[in-house]
Amino acid sequence: MPLDLILMGPPGAGKGTQAARIASERGLAHIATGDMLRAAVRDGTPLGQEAEAIMARGDLVPDDLIIAMFRERLSAPDTEPGVLLDGFPRTSAQAEALDGMLEGLDRHIASVIVFEIELEELVRRLSGRRVCRASEHVYHVDFHPPKADGVCDEDGSELYQRDDDQPDVIRTRFQKQWVEAAAPVIEYYRGHGLVSNLDAAQPREQVAAELDGLLDGLGQRA
Ligand code: ADP
Ligand code: AMP
Repeated sequence: MPLDLILMGPPGAGKGTQAARIASERGLAHIATGDMLRAAVRDGTPLGQEAEAIMARGDLVPDDLIIAMFRERLSAPDTEPGVLLDGFPRTSAQAEALDGMLEGLDRHIASVIVFEIELEELVRRLSGRRVCRASEHVYHVDFHPPKADGVCDEDGSELYQRDDDQPDVIRTRFQKQWVEAAAPVIEYYRGHGLVSNLDAAQPREQVAAELDGLLDGLGQRA
């Protein structure tokens, strides 16, 4: 039976950092809709052209575009052992579409892990975030610096600062995407008894240990 999991949390909570590790350790497909959209912008696809300005100001990309992009991603064979969703679903419409897609495949979400953290810490994390051009490996200038300045440890590509990791856009993303759009999604999953909370303000290793404990517990219940 595939293991399908959702990581939710405000922008900068550390979802991508943990997801990359968990997905490779547990053989799950890491699906990060933000990474997919940035690739579309880079490649200049019609989706990328439509999404670019929306992302730069910190708004959500329209549901129909995101759902279509996700549907196609879910049809790839690497999703068969299970998916680790990072940044999707972000609205109630996306959550309902996801349920429909999984139901059609006789699958269901096993758990939704919500990363809890204050805005002040998010601003600190996002202002210092650097990502690599080749594959979106994530660093932080203070909390997780690369070995050589400005260069990815994993693939040697250049590190850059995302356009939307500026204090004013960080606040817009937090308010519109987390406080407003995500609350009903969490309630929806809470109603299905699927939500676990995680203290994401801890250092990386402690977050990793708490997350591993939650996921191991799921395995035992299955
Ligand atoms: P998200 O995917 O939730 O937007 P990221 O995983 O990209 O968040 O993390 C945001 C920034 O915070 C990155 O610069 C990352 O290196 C850093 N970071 C991630 N987890 C922690 C942590 N537990 N403590 C301190 N910094 C962290
Ligand atoms: P992220 O990399 O997760 O921080 O996402 C970067 C940006 O991509 C967000 O600020 C949104 O503009 C857009 N985005 C990513 N995922 C979604 C989604 N599921 N729904 C709508 N917009 C999204």
